[in-house]
Amino acid sequence: MRKVMTSGVLLVILFVSVVIGLLIWNNKYYKKVEIPQIYSSSNDYGTKIAEDSQKDNYEVYTEKYEATSTIAQNVNKVIEDRLKKFIDSIDKDEVATPSQKAVFKNIIDSYKVNDNIVSFKVTILEKELKKEGFKKNIITLNYDLSKEEKITLDSLFKDGFKEKIKDQYSESYILKAQDIVFYDGDYESSIAYSKLKDYNKTKLLTAKNYNMTEEEYKKISNVVDPSKKMVAITFDDGPHATNTYKILEILEKNNAKATFFMLGQNVTYYPEVVKAVYNSGSEIGIHSWSHPDLTKLESAKILEEIQNTSDKVYGLTGYRPKLVRPPYGALNSVVKSTISLPFILWNIDSLDWKSRDEKQIVPLVMNDVEDGDIILLHDIHSTTVPAAEKIISQLVEQDYQLVTVSEMLEAKGYDTTVTKVFYSGRQ
Ligand code: ZN
Repeated sequence: MRKVMTSGVLLVILFVSVVIGLLIWNNKYYKKVEIPQIYSSSNDYGTKIAEDSQKDNYEVYTEKYEATSTIAQNVNKVIEDRLKKFIDSIDKDEVATPSQKAVFKNIIDSYKVNDNIVSFKVTILEKELKKEGFKKNIITLNYDLSKEEKITLDSLFKDGFKEKIKDQYSESYILKAQDIVFYDGDYESSIAYSKLKDYNKTKLLTAKNYNMTEEEYKKISNVVDPSKKMVAITFDDGPHATNTYKILEILEKNNAKATFFMLGQNVTYYPEVVKAVYNSGSEIGIHSWSHPDLTKLESAKILEEIQNTSDKVYGLTGYRPKLVRPPYGALNSVVKSTISLPFILWNIDSLDWKSRDEKQIVPLVMNDVEDGDIILLHDIHSTTVPAAEKIISQLVEQDYQLVTVSEMLEAKGYDTTVTKVFYSGRQ
């Protein structure tokens, strides 16, 4: 009996050792390669189809369009050509472990400037057989949908334009709602159309469609005049399913812009509202993911709150927010050293969240307002909507330019690329 038990125990030990050995072996020699995540925008042009295939010594993860139009076929062709070149470069007789396999991955992002212009960004990641690390390539295509023709920058801008942007210019670029983005390797830089106003050849980049009148065009192509007074209205805690749309309408009617400091969790709930804000020309800033007091959090958690929100907005719009408003305006040295973006506080508090009464909100703002001010409102409260309507129309009547925070700070000559706390743009 004793002998049998001993053998039993030995068998168990043997079994466990084999399992552990296999696990170690597996981990060391058969570890699968981790394929980096690429962020994607969701302003989709058409239906995408994802295809994966695993071969002996390479893996392919592609995304293509259902090729119903010539443009979709052209985008697909770029990917197919690149993939063919990639597969041709692999020696089919080479034996590879899973981690040594060559890998090809691509995603497609599309951006609509207006009903007529669509840009495609094809991001391609390639890992060579038995090599480590991915090489990233970005291929861009820009089309005029009405003519199904490629758009070149020369067809959109006058001579001298390339000279003006020579530090940023590259052959790879996409056209977004408000700016051109150039890609050079891992580096990307954007230029707002408003900065290139003098070089605009057509109305394509600023008009919503070809049929816009001169007057309408003039309205939306308005740039900030630094010599005139201006304020930046800000809305926190949204986006909100209905209030934010109403505010966008009021802003549009008044040819005004604002800045929306959004919560990541609400960005997830109302992606369409986020896109509408972006396309309206107003600015999106980060207010954190879940509205915690950042001064009570550890560095890693602070970064998560900001980064996740930024990624979410970027995924929806292709725009990376440039400003942070900490919840409650709470800042300390840890928060400041963790986030490398300017912190935007305010100098005019409407207390709209407290009074919920336009009769109190409007005078609180209007009695104190001056050139360069940053006004705090919250688009999650429905009582803020009529109050905002009064404030906006009164400010316009008093000849204020209603601009975004970034536009105002830039017009007032501040460097907004540094980590600094701004209460206003008063000089
Ligand atoms: Zn807040």
